[in-house]
Amino acid sequence: MLLRMSTLFLRTLREDPADAEVPSHKLLVRGGFVRRAAPGVYSWLPLGKLVLENVSRVVREEMDAIGAQEVLLPALLPKEYYEATGRWTEYGDTLFRLKDRKGADYLLGPTHEELFTLLVKGEYSSYKDFPVVLYQIQEKFRDEARPRAGVLRGREFHMKDSYSFDIDDEGLQASYDAHRAAYIRIFDRLGLEYVVVSATSGAMGGSASEEFLAVAATGEDTFVRSTGSDYAANVEAVATPAPSALPVEGLPEARVHHTPDTATIRTLVDFLNAAGLGRDFSEADTLKNLLVKTREPGAKDWELLGVGVPGDREVDLKRLEAALEPAEVALLDEADFAAHPFLAKGYIGPRALIDNKVRYLVDPRVVTGTSWVTGADETDHHVLDLVAGRDFTPDGTIDVAEVRDGDPSPDGRGTLYTARGIEIGHIFQLGRKYTDAFAVDALGPDGKPTRVTMGSYGIGVSRAVASIVEQSHDDKGIVWPREVAPADVHVVGTGKGEQIEEALRIAGELRARGLRVLVDDRKGVSPGVKFTDAELLGIPTAVIVGRGLKDGIVELRDRATGEREEIALADVVDRAEAACKA
Ligand code: ATP
Ligand code: MG
Repeated sequence: MLLRMSTLFLRTLREDPADAEVPSHKLLVRGGFVRRAAPGVYSWLPLGKLVLENVSRVVREEMDAIGAQEVLLPALLPKEYYEATGRWTEYGDTLFRLKDRKGADYLLGPTHEELFTLLVKGEYSSYKDFPVVLYQIQEKFRDEARPRAGVLRGREFHMKDSYSFDIDDEGLQASYDAHRAAYIRIFDRLGLEYVVVSATSGAMGGSASEEFLAVAATGEDTFVRSTGSDYAANVEAVATPAPSALPVEGLPEARVHHTPDTATIRTLVDFLNAAGLGRDFSEADTLKNLLVKTREPGAKDWELLGVGVPGDREVDLKRLEAALEPAEVALLDEADFAAHPFLAKGYIGPRALIDNKVRYLVDPRVVTGTSWVTGADETDHHVLDLVAGRDFTPDGTIDVAEVRDGDPSPDGRGTLYTARGIEIGHIFQLGRKYTDAFAVDALGPDGKPTRVTMGSYGIGVSRAVASIVEQSHDDKGIVWPREVAPADVHVVGTGKGEQIEEALRIAGELRARGLRVLVDDRKGVSPGVKFTDAELLGIPTAVIVGRGLKDGIVELRDRATGEREEIALADVVDRAEAACKA
């Protein structure tokens, strides 16, 4: 490949686009890699297309290596398939919907479980046909509520989606493991720093779903990692280690105190400390009870649920939703309180909940033998020294208190801190949700049908391009990892005639050695502009053919390290080739 900047369809910009906030958005636009066509919709120009193709190639190679087979399904899909699985409704406003001339409903595919399932059902029917893994790299459409950050969150974007079909759970696990390993190879090759976090809490049995997050301060996903190990997890999946139970013998008896105007933890603690009770109280000594209501899927009625957490922590609503999934959860409103007069708002304690058969779950830290200040179920009253396991027995634990920086890591090594990331991949053991919807069976050796089980696996290909830039840039521009760079080497001729001729000659030789070459052969463009462009475009190796040429000297530059070296013209092709293959 030899690209000449004198004719390349490229205009770099000196100014950041007005709508850009994150570095990848600014740099991909300024470097002429992409152009915005509509909110969340982008065109890929020649250099951008090369990068996109390089990422796709890496993905393809690693998918092929696990035996996955590439196909290409339509993006324009009839409504009926998505209606069969309920997703026509479930997807809500995120789905792009349209009608054909006869008035039939269509959608633009946001992800393709339905069509892949039907495709396999149409072709395969015997256990001998399985397992099979199919994938495609294709544009996806989602009418995102907040398209943002250029191609990071687009409304049209490129995704690699694959789907595994197996006849049993062991097969699904093997397909999942193969994908997981392939994803690790892909993201390693793309030069990304990333973590793998479980997307669901351990409750569903280990790694039913995991996300790959590229570490980036600009990411929308929060996760926690440990100072002392590789531990990383979604906040929803962090399991708080439970301390050991303590003996209850000899602990003071519980007693009710009049605590006027102490409906908040802060006012309560201040009151207790001013009351001369002979000890100091902190928020962590209190047990705060949050009342919510939950509704199981398909159920008509809501049920009350009490959640007890140490008073120095809030309940994290995302963790709560994840812990109760698939049930819905909502906070109580005034009408709910009115309907349950035993709930003394601001003073709710375990007693009234247990006596009134309200399910009561507590934080894992509330173990037997721990002693608490908590509501006495009467306005302006609290109970002190209420001991778990002695004075009340909750219905179980629920791990939904906020996770804080400095909390012990669940693996016992180091402490947790919060970081941000960009979801670049997601692997998911779907099970039989879609094969049930479409009755996909494989006939066993005995002629009996078995329901096929599925996995689905996505990589945001266009998002990966932006994620790479988020992680790999400096104040001058992009620093492409070699595997995805639009070229291996950028030969810059800076002078009038002779240097450009020489640059073209060197470029030709480098191409003959199999390198992908970009050559700046523009006439009437100043050296300063050419250097600025070279740094913005971020090709890993540059050869500068400038004033030194008359003395037989050219310069070799490394974009990542900034190193510059003057070398003899006679050595330039060998040295540049070596640098590109290092
Ligand atoms: P997010 O939580 O970021 O919206 P998602 O969980 O909805 O993503 P999936 O349905 O898991 O996304 O899609 C698979 C992959 O496609 C994601 O891991 C991500 O890398 C990519 N992706 C999803 N939505 C977008 C988008 N709007 N723009 C670019 N890439 C996307
Ligand atoms: Mg996802």
